[in-house]
Amino acid sequence: MIKTRFAPSPTGYLHVGGLRTALYCYLFAKKSGGKFALRIEDTDQERFVPGALENLIDTLHWVGITYDEGPIKKDPTDKNSEIIEKGPVGPYIQSKRTAIYKEQVQKLIDAGQAYRCFCTKERLDEMRERQTANKQAPMYDRKCLDLPQSEVEEKIKAGEKFVIRQKIPYGTLKFKDLIRGNVQFDGKTIDDQVLIKSDGFPTYHLANVVDDHFMEITHVIRGEEWLPSTPKHIALYQAFGWQHPEFAHLPLLLNADRSKLSKRQGDVAVEDYIKKGYLREAIINFVAFLGWNPGSGEEQEIFSLEELEKAFSIDKVHKSGAIFNLEKLDWFNWRWKKRLFNAELEKAAKEIDPAVVISEARKEQFTYTFSDPENEEKFFKSRCEKLLKICSEYLPKEFLNDEKLTKALITVEEKILREPKDIKDHISFYFTPQEYSKELLTHVKMGVDLSQATISLKSGKEDLEKLSDWNLKTLQDTLMQTVARLGVKNGQLLWPLRAALSGLEFSPGVFELAWVLGKEETLKRLETAVNKI
Ligand code: GLU
Repeated sequence: MIKTRFAPSPTGYLHVGGLRTALYCYLFAKKSGGKFALRIEDTDQERFVPGALENLIDTLHWVGITYDEGPIKKDPTDKNSEIIEKGPVGPYIQSKRTAIYKEQVQKLIDAGQAYRCFCTKERLDEMRERQTANKQAPMYDRKCLDLPQSEVEEKIKAGEKFVIRQKIPYGTLKFKDLIRGNVQFDGKTIDDQVLIKSDGFPTYHLANVVDDHFMEITHVIRGEEWLPSTPKHIALYQAFGWQHPEFAHLPLLLNADRSKLSKRQGDVAVEDYIKKGYLREAIINFVAFLGWNPGSGEEQEIFSLEELEKAFSIDKVHKSGAIFNLEKLDWFNWRWKKRLFNAELEKAAKEIDPAVVISEARKEQFTYTFSDPENEEKFFKSRCEKLLKICSEYLPKEFLNDEKLTKALITVEEKILREPKDIKDHISFYFTPQEYSKELLTHVKMGVDLSQATISLKSGKEDLEKLSDWNLKTLQDTLMQTVARLGVKNGQLLWPLRAALSGLEFSPGVFELAWVLGKEETLKRLETAVNKI
């Protein structure tokens, strides 16, 4: 049975890198029907930040990453709820496990794999200085390695402070990383690491290995910054005579200039993004793609947590650093708003008409075919209401009272979903005609000069004048017939018409514009354009 764990230190609020580790551990376990645990590595009491543990638990809960074992809130919905532990191999908070580490380290001492070191800070500093001056890598010189047992006992009795160090074996320490392949280190370059500090607390290395062993972790998935620690861990597994778990070290997170992502360069706490209003789905999706994608030939980028559970695979995780790009987060957020909005529309459409046929016209663009026009009308209303709810607070009163509004909103739906507060800029041209120069009506590349523009505007106007049933479909049919009648390319007719109706370089398409503006206003704007030329 596969089992992973996320083992953060509560030294601050959960950051994006931590969330990525948690997510990959979760996905890896889920994909294989395994288990996932949360363990709190709080042995460095000096770096403990009050509230960090609560923040961790709350944030994981908020994004929807659940774990089978570890500290949880008794009532996850209550901010102040008591923290309890769940699972058979707890406690899952290291500060509650000190007795276990002491017992294990004694075994290493008995087996000659670890020793007490009484060296003072002054001696260690002086030793290090000497080594650095001699251009040697600073390493403990093993002064206390072979102290006679009697001397050790005397020193302890006299109350001398000591640490417990591991005697690192000479020889190579190697392992196969699931992302990086074979990795090896020379034991000679590794310091006799401290396992128990003078305050009696274990170091990260000891606690981490002991816990991974007793918690039966099969796969250690963590950030690349922990790669240099892994040979030390391998040495510990060897000393204990335990089989080590598999390792996977995730690529570093980088700023756009490829420097290491640090807290100083912008927000990295997940909490900040939650406060800014990003969707949980977008945050998860964004974080999942920091160093992973489903592979070549796969275009899908929008994944829910459930979809990621199926698609994720550790061998698609990249070796090289992942760029942390906030524009991409905005993009994911926008796509997710769209996806959730589509889901809402689908629900509404089915409620109105269980026989509705929904088909994907283009990617994430759906068409709804209703069994009768009345249902279509109801759906249209409900769609407009939903959009209005999102952006009404940003609309001036005079727009709200204008009957064009509902149709106008439909034509800029994507923009409303992206940034509701900009709505006014996107639709005001419907209500107040924009100033524009006659050059806007031309388009060199499309073959529209002023004389072509005049022909197009006049012909379009002529045909639209005859149209009585004014809707999207009839507008499209009519104007496509005009194209055929004139024997021009679509753009040669549609560009000047679109420019005339919007007064803008970019706008919704001409059929939508005419539909929103209505017959009278459409003909009026076409007339104005002809006169302008
Ligand atoms: N406590 C370490 C951290 O804060 C855990 C590293 C590991 O997963 O082994 O990231």
